[in-house]
Amino acid sequence: MTNLVIPEPKKTLIPVHGSDEFFPVRRVYCIGRNYAAHTIEMGFDPDKEPPFFFQKNTDNIDTSGQFPYPPESSDVHYELELVVALNKGGSNIKEEDAYDHIYGFGIGLDMTRRDLQGVCKKMGRPWEIGKAFERSAPMGSLTPMSEVGKMESGSIKLQVNDEVRQDGDLDMMIWKIPEQIAILSKFYDISAGDLIMTGTPAGVGPIVKGDKLIGTIDGLQTLNVEVV
Ligand code: MN
Repeated sequence: MTNLVIPEPKKTLIPVHGSDEFFPVRRVYCIGRNYAAHTIEMGFDPDKEPPFFFQKNTDNIDTSGQFPYPPESSDVHYELELVVALNKGGSNIKEEDAYDHIYGFGIGLDMTRRDLQGVCKKMGRPWEIGKAFERSAPMGSLTPMSEVGKMESGSIKLQVNDEVRQDGDLDMMIWKIPEQIAILSKFYDISAGDLIMTGTPAGVGPIVKGDKLIGTIDGLQTLNVEVV
């Protein structure tokens, strides 16, 4: 047994729907501007840009159903996203082999301190402070691909307090899931345990304490999150 000088930090585990099993998380990759209408609402041209990725911290994942309004921001936005969970790693993975690397799917929120992210963009700084903060990745349970299929299309919708704010379809992704895996694996050794947050449809906006967020994607377990 290894002697640790401090208690071992908590592992990040996501429940698998309909079982007593959990998915252990290694890394959280996120793609930026992956739905044309969202790219336009953020002030960019969807035709010209190659995909880019950033990361959240593994321990930013939160499956409690509560999102505490974070400090040092007065403009925190929701971004509803399909989450892809990998069961196999590699580098230079071919698009046609990409689905062999997927365990399953879930629903996640890429919570964003938009005001801080805006400062980072303007000053050419990294985005972490706007994206990778405490509990910034609320997630629901995962469903295995063997049960839900490849998730190439289907409704993706976010309601805030009974009002639909985001309403898109997974087939509107600019960079499809196999392309995301192929491109990511050129730059990184991806691995079992990695998650990919696949981008958000149009309609992002601010939240306030007390808001109730309901995220749905066809075939997956609904994500319910309350802002506290
Ligand atoms: Mn996002």
